[in-house]
Amino acid sequence: MQSSTFSLSSIICVTVRHQYNITNKITNHINEYKCNKCGKEVTEDILGNIEELTSRQRKINESVALFFQKKNEKKIYQQL
Ligand SMILES: [Zn+2]
Repeated sequence: MQSSTFSLSSIICVTVRHQYNITNKITNHINEYKCNKCGKEVTEDILGNIEELTSRQRKINESVALFFQKKNEKKIYQQL
């Protein structure tokens, strides 16, 4: 008897939908998501498009997060 369990969860996601949970908040507008059914990871880019979370995209997000953190720190500092 052949096993038919392989990638069954991703088939569900193709026919139904991915169930994304936020795994990482980059900015107020950019989040990283992971599907809790098949484990697929995606991210929003600066323009708000959903893209696959590659290692390159992850690095971009890291620098964006750093940039926004610095910006916020500066803002707080200026308000004091
Ligand atoms: Zn999925």
